[in-house]
Amino acid sequence: MNIVSEPDIYFVFSVLGLLILAENYWKMAKVQGAVVVDKEGCKGCSLCVEACPQDVLSLHNEVNSRGYHYSYMKNPEACNGCSNCGVVCPDTCLTIYRVKV
Ligand code: SF4
Ligand code: SF4
Repeated sequence: MNIVSEPDIYFVFSVLGLLILAENYWKMAKVQGAVVVDKEGCKGCSLCVEACPQDVLSLHNEVNSRGYHYSYMKNPEACNGCSNCGVVCPDTCLTIYRVKV
């Protein structure tokens, strides 16, 4: 009869844990996000700019028809589609897309 020792079990679980972490990291690293801004609906409050962990968004120098500096993707390649910006926007001006690349 084979008896698996405790250190062997810990080793197996450690390897499995590392594999799962590596797989999750790979999945996250392969997601590209894109944000479409309803610029006429935007009131330039900057909540989305502050909420973005990737420093993707900024307020545009130009204004919309209501006179507000609207949000836009200043740094689009850094977007990971996390949706933080869409969650905080009080006027639901942001639509977030995520694609695997
Ligand atoms: S989806 Fe996330 S990373 Fe992309 S702009 Fe919004 S907050 Fe930033
Ligand atoms: S949170 Fe919404 S309203 Fe405020 S700047 Fe961003 S897109 Fe515009």
